[in-house]
Amino acid sequence: MQIDLTEFFSAAGLTKEMEVPFEQKEVCWNGEQYPVSEALPVQLTVTGEGGGVLSISGSARLTLEIPCGRCLTPVAYPFTLSFEHRIETANEGEEDTEATDEQPFVLNHLLDVDRLVSEELYVNMPMKVLCKPDCLGICPKCGCNRNIRDCGCDLFEPDPRMALIRDLFQGGGENGS
Ligand SMILES: [Zn+2]
Ligand SMILES: [Zn+2]
Repeated sequence: MQIDLTEFFSAAGLTKEMEVPFEQKEVCWNGEQYPVSEALPVQLTVTGEGGGVLSISGSARLTLEIPCGRCLTPVAYPFTLSFEHRIETANEGEEDTEATDEQPFVLNHLLDVDRLVSEELYVNMPMKVLCKPDCLGICPKCGCNRNIRDCGCDLFEPDPRMALIRDLFQGGGENGS
C-alpha cells in the first residue's frame, strides 16, 4: 500500500498515526520466496519536521514460512520489527536520486509500506532456521526426511580429505634423521 507524504513535507509539526495492512503474500530474499503466513497491520507514525524533512517511525509483526535448513520443512518464523527513518525531500527542480538510493521505499513523495517493511525484514532475516534443534535432516542417499522415517541407509563414507591427511602422515612417517 502506498501513502502520499506530500502534506508532511510542507507542514512542520503535523503528526499522524496510521494502521496500514502489509499486502505482500510473500517476501523475496536472496532469490527465494518466503510465504507470509500472518501479518498484523503495520503501525506507522509520520511527522512533518519542516524544511522538507519528515520522520517515519513504527512497528510491524509478521510471520514468514522459512524452510528448515536441514529438512526443508516450512517453519513459521515470527518477526517483530521496529523502525525509524528520517526522510529528506529534494527541493523543487533538484535531482533526488540520492534520496531514492538511500530510501527505496519513498519515491515521488509516496511511501511504499510493503517495501519499507521488506527492507526491515531483509536486515533481520535469520542465518539459518531449524524446525527443531536436533533436526536429523534429509538422508543424502535416499532423500527421505529422517525425522519422519529412519530409512536405515548406511551413511558412512570415508571423507576424502581425511584419507589425504592419513596418506601424508603415512608417507612422512619415516624418521627424518
Ligand atoms: Zn528440519
Ligand atoms: Zn536414506
